Amino acid sequence: MKGICGIALRGTRALAIEVEVEITGGLFSITVVGLPDTAVKEARERVRAALRGLGVTLKGRIAINLAPADFPKEGALLDLPMAIGLARASGRIEMDDNAIFMGELALDGRLRWVRGAVPAAVLAREEKTPLFVPRDNEKEVALVEGVEAYAVNSLLDVMLHLRGEKMIPRIGHKPAADEEITAETDFEDIKGQFAAKRALEIAAAGHHNILMTGSPGSGKTLLARAMKGILPPLSDDEMMEVLLVRSTAGMPFEPSRARPFRSAHHTASAVAICGGGANMRPGEVSLANRGVLFLDEFPEFSRDVLEALREPLQDGAITVSRAAGSVTYPARVLLITACNPCPCGFSGDPAERCRCSQGDLDRYRKKLSGPILDRIDLHVSVPRLSPEELVSLGGGGENSAAVRARVQSAREIQQKRWRKLGFHCNAELPERALKRGVKLDDDVRPFLADAMKSARMSGRGFSRVLRVARTIADLEGADKVSVRHVAESLSYREEAAFGNYGWRK
Ligand SMILES: [Zn+2]
Repeated sequence: MKGICGIALRGTRALAIEVEVEITGGLFSITVVGLPDTAVKEARERVRAALRGLGVTLKGRIAINLAPADFPKEGALLDLPMAIGLARASGRIEMDDNAIFMGELALDGRLRWVRGAVPAAVLAREEKTPLFVPRDNEKEVALVEGVEAYAVNSLLDVMLHLRGEKMIPRIGHKPAADEEITAETDFEDIKGQFAAKRALEIAAAGHHNILMTGSPGSGKTLLARAMKGILPPLSDDEMMEVLLVRSTAGMPFEPSRARPFRSAHHTASAVAICGGGANMRPGEVSLANRGVLFLDEFPEFSRDVLEALREPLQDGAITVSRAAGSVTYPARVLLITACNPCPCGFSGDPAERCRCSQGDLDRYRKKLSGPILDRIDLHVSVPRLSPEELVSLGGGGENSAAVRARVQSAREIQQKRWRKLGFHCNAELPERALKRGVKLDDDVRPFLADAMKSARMSGRGFSRVLRVARTIADLEGADKVSVRHVAESLSYREEAAFGNYGWRK
């Protein structure tokens, strides 16, 4: 890159856009070259007004060239570099060095917050180039270490700085604080549901996707939300990934180490969940990167959406295609899904009667099967509690902080064990690595062989049982997987839920 630059976004990366301005004699006109969208044309008017406010009247035939030409650009991101380019071409400032500018101009020359400041800061650091951002973007840029960046209030600020008349102090690096993670709901505030809480703990520890089945009002959503409190805090690298996605999506800055929790409604479009659209934004699955994506009423999601979720669940990233090329966003999520046991919602309920026929149940069960189910390691039922049970249960058990400590140490054990093979957690293990890498007690093999025979388990089902058993053992800090761990793991199989809900296999 050289000269006066702005940025365009590609995925969560910023690309430098060079802004060249040429003024020749003749009647006044401004042309912007380089496939600008309509927003760039609007930007031309904002830039002209802001410059006029500073006494810079544009004259002559003006050509603004945005290079590379064939890359889609967004107007608001390019207001400031175009204004600086025009000010230089009209002789109002002298500037020979390279710099990246970003900011949307108000008509009076003030600068407004823009998306993409974090990717821009990463680019500026790579290019060893100073970066000028609106004041409102200062906090997020301060998290990027080693970048020379300046926060500015207005176009006038930038011009005075470049002329050397009033220097702006450089933004100091301010790393994110180590904070105590909290969720709106703590595990100890949820009465009963110990099986579901245990399953969530295993999911969090081994990064296993989970399906919770239960009647309306059983607390599935509450349980899913409480998951946030038992996940370990984001590391610095993970936090940077989260920030890059949020900044790209144009979401307000949040300097938190808590993992993202996003939920999507079953009526949401594939674009909302997977990303894309006219302005190319990341979707929910990317906003949930390094955290949790919660899909309630799972069987109601369209086939398109579920099909599209396969790729991120497999690869930890999602590629979105559009006319001008394709873009990849990170999408490493822990998927929590929830559903009713049957169309009416009360199959297996202690109090309400289910009104569904066997045909309804079988059809419902069929809807549940499909591409995503293969990726779900844990199945747990969340029964509705009767008022008597609620009263007699009393305490909710351990608090989230205690569970989180166990989850964190189990994750550290896994990272250490799998590092050489390039995996981070048990859920990622392919069959081959499972067979070689998971140590078993001597009596586990015959026990598993029996279980496979009596449950007619497939090879894939077998791998799932072993993966989850490994995580259960890691939560105890056990080196070898024992029969006890496998027995618990077997209780989270999909088939274990069939009988409860009258589903036929
Ligand atoms: Zn029913």
